[in-house]
Amino acid sequence: MLNIVLFGPPGSGKGTQAEKLIKKYNLIHISTGDLLRSEVANKTSLGTEAKKIMDAGELVPDEIVIGMIRKKLEEHKDGPGFVFDGFPRTVEQARELRKALTDYDERVTMEISLEVPRGELLKRLVKRGEESGRSDDNEETINNRIDVYERQTVPVTYYYEKMHKHVPVNGIGTIDQIFKRIVDAVEGFEKFHEAGA
Ligand code: ADP
Repeated sequence: MLNIVLFGPPGSGKGTQAEKLIKKYNLIHISTGDLLRSEVANKTSLGTEAKKIMDAGELVPDEIVIGMIRKKLEEHKDGPGFVFDGFPRTVEQARELRKALTDYDERVTMEISLEVPRGELLKRLVKRGEESGRSDDNEETINNRIDVYERQTVPVTYYYEKMHKHVPVNGIGTIDQIFKRIVDAVEGFEKFHEAGA
C-alpha cells in the first residue's frame, strides 16, 4: 500500500492536493474534517457534539476521530492505499494510526507537509468562508485553529521526522506547481527506499 499523510495548517490546500493525489495513484481519500461535516449535516448525536467543537476551532476528541479512521481502514483494507487529510492532528492520533495500520500489516509510507506562512493562510480561509459559508471560516475561529495547529498538531511532524518519514513541501504557488512538488516528493521517496536506503 501507499499510505500518505498529507499534513499542513488549516488552509494549506490539503483537500485540493489530496483530490489530485487520489486520482493519480488511485488511493482512498480519508478526510476527518469531511467525515465530521457529514455527521453534522446528518444531524447525528456525534455531529451535534462535534459542531460546537469545530465552530470553536478546537479539536474533536481523539477517540472519536480514531473510531472513524478505523472504520474506513476496515472498509478499504484491500485497496491500494490511503491519503490521510487532516489526520493525525495529535501525536496520540499518530500513534493510534500506527497501531491501526499494523493490524493490517501496513504502515504510513510518508508524511508530506505543506508549508504555508500564517498571513497567507488567513487570507485564503477568509476568502473560503465568504465563498463556501463554512461556519468555522471566520476570522476569530481561523486564528484559534491556527493556534491549535501550532500547539497540538505541529508535534506530529516531529513524530514522523524521527521515523525519517517527514517531507516538507513548499505550499506557495499554483495548484499544479504544488502538486508537481508533491509527486516529486512521493517518487523521490519511493526511489530512495527501493534503493535500500
Ligand atoms: P482545516 O484543515 O481547514 O481546519 P478540516 O476540515 O481538516 O479543516 O477540519 C475542520 C475541523 O474539524 C477542525 O478545526 C477540528 O475541529 C475538526 N477535526 C478535523 N479533523 C480532526 C482530527 N483529526 N482531530 C480532531 N479534530 C478534527
